[in-house]
Amino acid sequence: MFIADYHLHTNASSDSKASAESMIDKAISLGLSEMALTDHVDFDDRYTYTNYNEYIPNFIKLQEKYEGKIKLVLGVEIGLENMLKDRVNEFAVSFPFDFIIGSSHCVKKYDLYFDREKFFSLFGSKKEAYTTYFTELIKNIKECKTFNIYGHIDFINRYGTYEDNSLSYSDYSDLADTALKLLIEKGKGIEINTSGFRYGLGQPHPSFDFVKRYKELGGEIITVGSDAHRPEDIAANFTAAYDMLKAAGFKYLTLFRYQKPTFTKLP
Ligand SMILES: [Zn+2]
Ligand SMILES: [Zn+2]
Repeated sequence: MFIADYHLHTNASSDSKASAESMIDKAISLGLSEMALTDHVDFDDRYTYTNYNEYIPNFIKLQEKYEGKIKLVLGVEIGLENMLKDRVNEFAVSFPFDFIIGSSHCVKKYDLYFDREKFFSLFGSKKEAYTTYFTELIKNIKECKTFNIYGHIDFINRYGTYEDNSLSYSDYSDLADTALKLLIEKGKGIEINTSGFRYGLGQPHPSFDFVKRYKELGGEIITVGSDAHRPEDIAANFTAAYDMLKAAGFKYLTLFRYQKPTFTKLP
């Protein structure tokens, strides 16, 4: 039995057509006891910017409608960009979020999906491109203060334009260790985002090595999310995610209330 899906989008995000109700009904049918709706807020003008002034009253109505059936957690997924840190930090404290995912969607103003040809053409090698990704990610952790977990932390391996986009922890261990240590020091976590399976990577974001290393370094805060943009993908591949957590030494899963982590035993 799965407990909670902590990374979900609805049609408030421009890349989803799913109503919140359709997502919630599906989560209830799967027996989840809670779910975090984490619609997008990205500050680059081309991207999706959920209007939380309109969103929150609707969310409160949904909480009332589904009370006793499932716990709805008010979340958001913010695209972290250190160049836009003032906007990121101001936004994050403007609404009463329970849970904030901070994700690298843009690196140096290039979107890793829309601008991937341009972004990767800036570099002479995969090593150089992935190094830049982690260097910027470390700056994001230092400068964007208000988030709870870093989303899909090895996301760069999804959109690379190389014959082999794979990312081995050992090739970037200095930078990746620095990022994980900073997160731990700041009381922030990571997620296991199972969308990697849907993108054909054969593993979630991040790969097992990241999860294991985060635990070895003393990390405890870890959520599991499908990043579903439609009901069919809710809690997808969660068996693999729970197995990975246990193999890395985790006994607990993290949930959030008012941005404070709480822990629940893995089934
Ligand atoms: Zn994302
Ligand atoms: Zn997402």
